Amino acid sequence: MSVSIQGNVALEGISIGKIVKVDQSLDGYVASYTPGTAEEELAKLEAALEAISAEIDESVEKMRAAGQDEQADIMEAHSFLLMDPMFTDMMNDKARELANAPAAVLAAANETAEILANMEDEYMRERSQDVHDIGRRVARFVLGVKGIEVGDEPIILCGHEVEPSVIANIPDDKLAGVIMGQGSTTCHAVIIAKSRAITTIVGLEERIGDIPDGAKVLMDGNAGMVIVEPTQDELSSYEKQMAEQQAEMKRYEAMRDLPAETTDGKVVQLTANIGLPDDAEAAIKYGNQGVGLFRSEFIFMGRDKIPSEELQYENYKKAILACKGELCVIRTMDIGGDKPLPYLNIAPEDNPFLGYRAVRISLERPELFMPQLRAILRAGVFGKAAIMVPMVISVDEVKSILAMVDKAKAELETEGKEYAKDVQVGIMVETPAAAVMTPVLAKYVDFFSIGTNDLVQYTLAVDRINPQVSKLYDHFHPAVLQLIQRTIQAGCNNGKWVGMCGEMASDPYAAVILMAMGITELSMSAPSIPKVKEKIRSVSLKEAKDHLAKVMELETGAEVREYLRKNL
Ligand code: PEP
Ligand code: MG
Repeated sequence: MSVSIQGNVALEGISIGKIVKVDQSLDGYVASYTPGTAEEELAKLEAALEAISAEIDESVEKMRAAGQDEQADIMEAHSFLLMDPMFTDMMNDKARELANAPAAVLAAANETAEILANMEDEYMRERSQDVHDIGRRVARFVLGVKGIEVGDEPIILCGHEVEPSVIANIPDDKLAGVIMGQGSTTCHAVIIAKSRAITTIVGLEERIGDIPDGAKVLMDGNAGMVIVEPTQDELSSYEKQMAEQQAEMKRYEAMRDLPAETTDGKVVQLTANIGLPDDAEAAIKYGNQGVGLFRSEFIFMGRDKIPSEELQYENYKKAILACKGELCVIRTMDIGGDKPLPYLNIAPEDNPFLGYRAVRISLERPELFMPQLRAILRAGVFGKAAIMVPMVISVDEVKSILAMVDKAKAELETEGKEYAKDVQVGIMVETPAAAVMTPVLAKYVDFFSIGTNDLVQYTLAVDRINPQVSKLYDHFHPAVLQLIQRTIQAGCNNGKWVGMCGEMASDPYAAVILMAMGITELSMSAPSIPKVKEKIRSVSLKEAKDHLAKVMELETGAEVREYLRKNL
């Protein structure tokens, strides 16, 4: 009989494969290891660190050559960890003390990871997984434990934590899925799995132990369900779903170059949300028309210092070029909230989402903001670029932003550097204050993009990452809908375009009523584009407007959802 275990979806899809457990304890190997003298153990440790550094450098080079920059960046972060004096001193001290190199490495990694895991900020907590990863890699090297051997069958990597380096080193056609006990969907392992479109389920917690090594497993990545040793009936029912999934993919592929156009000719622009420039290239197969949100803070993360203007320029240029003449909207760094940056040394805050975040940091720290503005303006000559500023609440902020953009242009002019003079400057509407003020703000900016992820949290006073209140988090809440409608109307009245780049944009039902409100662009993770396009192509603008009129009279989010489900 099969066993079903419920987890959380990190990346959808249905996959079948053989389980390879990846974080099995090295205790047994360590127990049977015969150490030498303290001096010999120190020498082994040094040799292992050198060899692994060289291995990482080699794989980073290969990844860069293959255009896998995202994976390469993560591996490079491992390389920095290996050079971190706090970590290396601790390994050496312990090797001297224990006269046992693998035990010393594991102990140092555990201690360092524990310090990180108890830190306030999420970014540092997630780095604890990288420390475990690198520690096990070094220990395995000293112990002579071989890495994963991949045969003919596709495998599913499974562990409480799956090391990013392990995922990165398995070829696409051999990796069917990733299952993890831990629950984060923003850790490096998940980012790598997502960038390779590998079905991923997380958050199985201690039930990860119920999945034996070598078992056949069916992953229902749409429902977050892991089925261990599926029965023939279960396999057959999922085979049907897999066939449907493939048929759906074919249908979507056929629609790729068609516009998101209603039956009576209203066209909406569907664009992609990206985290790194490579994602812009990857989005093309889903038929995006440019990028509506480049979350530039990802360039600032996973490093130990502020990226230079040159490095930012190269990243923006790559994304702009991948947009092939369509607009590439680059959001200036949205640091703070759930995306802290350790090297900025921002003091811990009681309410980080209401604190020192995004534009508030940018305006106070021109040494951070000016190089970013200059890099975007310079990269703009390679296509069509826009600057978009997050978390705005006031006209004063907008005036300061515009003054800084002018200053950046003047500097470039004086230096004789080439830059795009026509880069649009817009803001995200993701605070209720900005939404209410849009009739005024519209006079100063070129466009608005509604960030519902934050707009919902701030309007409803519901923390967007707290699972205890997640059932209150609803983009169809009438208060949210009214703010959205007000924003779109303010844009239209002032001849400014309005888009949306929050998750709501990827909800096909929402897309229909947003279009009826007059939105011109919807930006979403690229794999969501075909289903939104299919829905838009199935209705007329007239019908959509009728639905909108009814929806705006409803009193609760649940009623709105129910109405749209029944009528669309
Ligand atoms: C948003 O708030 O809707 C948004 C797109 O920004 P982020 O999710 O990065 O905060
Ligand atoms: Mg936001």
